[in-house]
Amino acid sequence: MRRVSIFGATGSVGQNTIDLIARAPEDYQVVALTGASNIAQLARDARRLRAEIAVTAHDHLLDELNAALAGSGVEAAAGTAAVIEAAARPADWVMSAIVGAAGLAPGLAALEQGGTLALANKESLVCAGQLMLSTAKAQGARLLPVDSEHSAVFQALVGEDMEAVERLIITASGGAFRDWPVEDLENATLAEASSHPNWDMGQRITIDSASMFNKAMELIETREYFGVSPRQIEVLVHPESMIHAMVGFRDGALMAHVGPADMRHAIGYALHWPERRTLPVERLDLAQIGQLSFRAPCETRWPALRLAREVMETGGLAGAVFNAAKETALDAFIAEEISFNEMAIIVEEVLTQMSATPGHIDATMTLDNVAYVDHLARQEARAVIHRRAG
Ligand code: NAD
Ligand code: MG
Repeated sequence: MRRVSIFGATGSVGQNTIDLIARAPEDYQVVALTGASNIAQLARDARRLRAEIAVTAHDHLLDELNAALAGSGVEAAAGTAAVIEAAARPADWVMSAIVGAAGLAPGLAALEQGGTLALANKESLVCAGQLMLSTAKAQGARLLPVDSEHSAVFQALVGEDMEAVERLIITASGGAFRDWPVEDLENATLAEASSHPNWDMGQRITIDSASMFNKAMELIETREYFGVSPRQIEVLVHPESMIHAMVGFRDGALMAHVGPADMRHAIGYALHWPERRTLPVERLDLAQIGQLSFRAPCETRWPALRLAREVMETGGLAGAVFNAAKETALDAFIAEEISFNEMAIIVEEVLTQMSATPGHIDATMTLDNVAYVDHLARQEARAVIHRRAG
């Protein structure tokens, strides 16, 4: 029996992970499941998977969680510290699927206990990639990609020599607005940005797909995982979302990873790695599909891609600033305080402001410094939002 924990168990990736684990309950002992507001879901899954502990990130929901777990034998806990403590419980395999920078500290705690961390939470690599990688190395822990593009690159690299790699191409569906006239983006509504043409995901990542902030974060994530230079990473718009990534080798060959838009593939690959086991995903009928298409990404439509390149150029804690400003701008868009296009304008302004102050972006990458810079960037982003509104 493998001991497994799922952080962000109530979310889209978390539920897909539970779907796979629940198909073979005899293979797994579930240690911890965590969630935030959806207590009913958290308690239901903790009961049926016989988890040791269920944790909500919200302190004030402890009583509700205790009541929902009464008589089940599952321990209940609440609060940010309790989530991190749960990550420190020994486990062989941990899924990191909390959304946002809140996933960083639990991910690091899981790496510190030395098991395998399956990483869906791309924000932790964007904010603190070098810290994640050095912690994994020091503890002999393994970091496996779960983001579909990075899982695809990882799979295309099996048995290959990184020396022979010329470029990594990650694809992007283009999100909800890929076919809209650029001038209409200004008036894009929250409802329009919250529906994805191909993938069924949480609301935040769906909006980030429409703005390309998701792909922007994935550019940085690619650099961190595979240690290539930013120049070697390309984004390719591919509306059908069937090729997830391609690896280009020095002999001109391109190895493409092709599969259905179903996160259970990448999750299952990380769950069973280094084996490849049968997974309950659709088998593609390419003759039926007929055609795949590709376009170059347009930086006027998607300024987030240019910002990600600038962040990689700057290095240091620029990724933490970028992510925090993006999360704050996204909150404001979701609250309908700012327009769709203002998200990128705000992120750029925060990056400019914070780069100008010594001791922020150039500080050493420790968890405390990342948290501090994250805090300042959110404050700055709110100030920018306030100024623009007034
Ligand atoms: P989601 O919004 O569906 O779920 C997020 C989970 O995080 C929930 O369990 C929620 O309770 C928990 N959570 C939210 N705020 C929290 C906090 N402050 N502290 C602790 N827990 C908190 O999100 P998702 O779509 O499942 O995405 C999860 C992560 O995986 C994100 O980093 C996302 O970028 C990444 N990812 C998702 C997909 C996808 O298909 N959904 C694909 C690739 C990568
Ligand atoms: Mg992805």
